[in-house]
Amino acid sequence: MFDNYEVWFVTGAQLLYGGDAVIAVDAHSNEMVKGLNDSGRLPIKVVYKGTVNSSKEVTTVMRAANNDDKCVGIITWMHTFSPAKMWIHGLQELRKPLCHFHTQFNKEIPWDTMDMDFMNLNQSAHGDREFGHITARMRKPRKVVVGYWKDAETQNKLSVWMRVAAAWADAQDMLIIRFGDQMNNVAVTDGDKVEAEMRMGYHVDYCPIAELVAYQNKVTDEDIDELVETYKKEYEIANEDLENREFIHQVREAARIEVALRRILKDKGAKAFTTHFDNLKGINQLPGLASQRLMAEGYGFGAEGDWKTAALYRTMWFMGQGLPKGCSFLEDYTLNFDGENSAILQSHMLEVCPLIAEQKPRLEVHPLGIGGKNDPARLVFTSKEGEGVAATVIDLGNRFRLIVNKVDCIKSKPLPKLPVASALWIPRPNFEVGAGAWILAGGTHHSSFSYDLTVEYLEDYAEIADIEMVVIDENTTMSEFKKELRINEVYYMLNKALS
Ligand code: MN
Repeated sequence: MFDNYEVWFVTGAQLLYGGDAVIAVDAHSNEMVKGLNDSGRLPIKVVYKGTVNSSKEVTTVMRAANNDDKCVGIITWMHTFSPAKMWIHGLQELRKPLCHFHTQFNKEIPWDTMDMDFMNLNQSAHGDREFGHITARMRKPRKVVVGYWKDAETQNKLSVWMRVAAAWADAQDMLIIRFGDQMNNVAVTDGDKVEAEMRMGYHVDYCPIAELVAYQNKVTDEDIDELVETYKKEYEIANEDLENREFIHQVREAARIEVALRRILKDKGAKAFTTHFDNLKGINQLPGLASQRLMAEGYGFGAEGDWKTAALYRTMWFMGQGLPKGCSFLEDYTLNFDGENSAILQSHMLEVCPLIAEQKPRLEVHPLGIGGKNDPARLVFTSKEGEGVAATVIDLGNRFRLIVNKVDCIKSKPLPKLPVASALWIPRPNFEVGAGAWILAGGTHHSSFSYDLTVEYLEDYAEIADIEMVVIDENTTMSEFKKELRINEVYYMLNKALS
């Protein structure tokens, strides 16, 4: 899906050094953009949009970026000194994500041959500071990437920002369908949907479950046969289950729900959805298997009406497309106190994404002691080991807060009496501080988890969305974390008062 997008590269210059200088700046920029595209490290095509030498030219390119659906963001670079007052009007209008790239065309100083002409061309050292000043002065959200443009590390930082910028574009026309409301009385999964749309772009709608039932009634036996064949190919199924009529019946019912759910989401143009086990009138079983499989395809999912987590999952899945280890919706399930290895079992009633599975998932059917429906089909597995990030967005009334915790997934164990998919993680810096800080910050019991993303991705997201972000990692201490929350409280209160 990154193929539909591009990132624009705009080089700041001015006419002070003559037309020849601008021609050289242009040639260097072309070479850089070509080098970036040929590096194989950037997921999205970079398109060079020329030099800008005046306020009018800056404004023109910013307006064009705003109006071009393919453009997910702008990279700016000041090859020469570009007096930044000429950027004011354009930056005021720019509504796409901004990345300020502090690099230089030439790698090392040519000590013996450097003259004034060379210096006039290679002015990023001061030119990018002038640009940095105006973006700071204007409080313009942006990412600053510093490094030589041919270095892998530098290109990887651009790649992170590009993935986030694309996910941001994706979120601007994200429709989230809620089948049912929040679970009764639950506070943390609720929030201001109007503010969410203004701030993060996505739109949250409800859909009566009766509409899904109507779709379900149109699913044919052939549709179900085809999907069940896919299940047999993709998952382990016990031989005795294949001969068990009740098992086959429930799996076919699960397939019916999956076909219906995929069709209704497609017809509505939805990228995410929520369900609620208490609101399934006309549906025979909780859509566990369907939710698992749709998540793996990139649909955002939140249980019990949790639309914020559904949105965040879709966004994190989108950022991580093509990366190897996967992501999932998860819930803090049960604690395991074990000294230094104290950990939190992550699972849900059924809805854990198979992208994080360590081994081929097993398709099983078991009773579910909640919701009063038939025994639902589900994929059962334990997760891969390794580090990742768990994230959530909460609504604090005057702002959204993104909470991110670095976690280490350790070996989980099968649960023969609770056959669900699970992960087992130790939050950083350790269970006590990790869980303590998350709770202190007001974090949900639901989270969106990814092995492939790092804190940097979420930091770029929070910057673009201009929302609060707090990170819990190996450096977190409770006393410093408390201070950060208190300082942020003042910052956002003042920010609101002054804006
Ligand atoms: Mn839940």
